[in-house]
Amino acid sequence: MKKVIIVGGGISGLTAGIVLQRSGFETHIYEKNPIAGGELTGWKREGIYIDNCIDWLTNSKADDSEMYALWKDIGMLGDNVKMCPKNKFFSYTADGKTVTFWRDLERTRKEMLEISPEDKENIDKFCDTVKIAEVFTVPANKPMDKFGPKELKKFWPFLKGMGAVGKAYQGMSLQDLGDSFKSPIIGKAFTMMHPANTQAFSFIVSYATITSGSGDIPVGGSLAAAMRIVDRYKEVGGTLHLNSPIKRLVVSGNQASGILLEDGNEINADYVIVATDANHAFTKLLPAEYMPKKMKAVFDDKEHYTTFSKFHAIYLIDAKVGMPEDTSFWKCDGPTIGRTKMNAFGTLCYDYDPSTYPTEDQTLVQVKVIQYLEDCKEWLELAAKDKDAYDERRKEYADKLMAEIVKHYPEAEGKIRCLDTWTPATYASRCNSYNGSYMSFVADKNSKTVTTPGVIKQLRNVFLAGQWNMGSGGLPPAAVQGKFAAWRICKKEGVPCK
Ligand SMILES: Cc1cc2nc3c(=O)[nH]c(=O)nc-3n(C[C@H](O)[C@H](O)[C@H](O)COP(=O)(O)OP(=O)(O)OC[C@H]3O[C@@H](n4cnc5c(N)ncnc54)[C@H](O)[C@@H]3O)c2cc1C
Repeated sequence: MKKVIIVGGGISGLTAGIVLQRSGFETHIYEKNPIAGGELTGWKREGIYIDNCIDWLTNSKADDSEMYALWKDIGMLGDNVKMCPKNKFFSYTADGKTVTFWRDLERTRKEMLEISPEDKENIDKFCDTVKIAEVFTVPANKPMDKFGPKELKKFWPFLKGMGAVGKAYQGMSLQDLGDSFKSPIIGKAFTMMHPANTQAFSFIVSYATITSGSGDIPVGGSLAAAMRIVDRYKEVGGTLHLNSPIKRLVVSGNQASGILLEDGNEINADYVIVATDANHAFTKLLPAEYMPKKMKAVFDDKEHYTTFSKFHAIYLIDAKVGMPEDTSFWKCDGPTIGRTKMNAFGTLCYDYDPSTYPTEDQTLVQVKVIQYLEDCKEWLELAAKDKDAYDERRKEYADKLMAEIVKHYPEAEGKIRCLDTWTPATYASRCNSYNGSYMSFVADKNSKTVTTPGVIKQLRNVFLAGQWNMGSGGLPPAAVQGKFAAWRICKKEGVPCK
């Protein structure tokens, strides 16, 4: 039985492990943290569950898609996993009007037309394009660079649909999309959820996931999902080594003999899969010159590819204050967080998942503020140099955000308290994430999202997994990249990939 070491127990590493175990390999996952799951996670403060990942899960609909089958295989979803319906993507309220990106696309169209009949042409173009984008799915059986005529035929509707969406909004950012509307409220709504330089294409595809009913959230949230996947890995015989940071791969000639752990132990294997952040992989685990050319081009092109992260604060209110469930933004003259002067404020209220709720007369709400690259770097520096100043800044921002909630929901006065805050530095220290980013690169409107094949030219038995190999990242890319690394090893060994 061939032995495979997997560096990193995020969803990508776990997926690779499950597929390889099923395909007859002996696998060992080495994870630096005391818990697996990586960025798919949650934790408790004062006994209250805090979720920190799934806002929507692409291909969550129980259908015959390859991605849904993979979600089932790894235990993310399944017949025994109940779902919270994602009723809206998000809403934005300003000057007494609300734009909501509903699951029901026709309701969105109707409400937008009521707000701004003069934008009819643009509203129709947007809604019609979202409808086309509902064919979106993530191919999950085989890497796309290995597609033959059979796969091309199978995915033709998807490829055609994506081509049409790309053509309709080619060269447009979310800012451009927003600016193309006469209504300032509709225009502004587009820039609430994602960085304004994100391609309009990405937004349309994400929203289409929800309108097609394929972006629901598993009940119990991200931590429960991660633990189901860990359980599945163990059920199929995998070995998970927690608290086991890896220092580097041990390389000689054109192959790796195994890994060197931070504690000095060296472990041998026939294959190694690196399922960590890509920057960490090629600054710490492997020589920088082994980074695949395509990936390096993206890292080097700072003009067109960037990363972002968020400052997060979570609050418990000892009352129901009329806060809508899920994500809602409102126009405000808000505080400055990092370099962002907030002119809109967003809340993520977890009422949609009562299973994770403290009590039914309380409100659990998270506030996330986008932090662009300069802010992220500052957080990382502050956390490394001056822990007290870092903690003070977290508190200062948490207080400012809390004041804004109370301004909007005066009934929360005296009943609200902050449970926790976390920053880009949290992602960097916890998951070794590049610039504290929990997604991969944002490609601007003049560039393309890039997928790298997960192979290292100089090393014949090392494969790359993880979200950084595929587009702008997220759970489906991370999971399929784990599957594809396993697929390549199965192919090399001439065994079916299960
Ligand atoms: C707030 C938030 C919201 C999100 N919302 C969504 C969403 O709605 N939908 C969606 O699809 N995605 C979402 N994501 C993104 C999603 O969580 C990530 O894309 C995905 O979890 C990345 O998985 P991964 O396995 O590639 O990487 P990671 O999760 O980063 O896993 C890598 C693992 O490697 C470990 N590691 C790193 N270095 C070493 C080392 N030297 N030795 C041993 N172990 C190491 C890390 O600790 C980590 O566990 C969200 C993420 C966050 C944080």
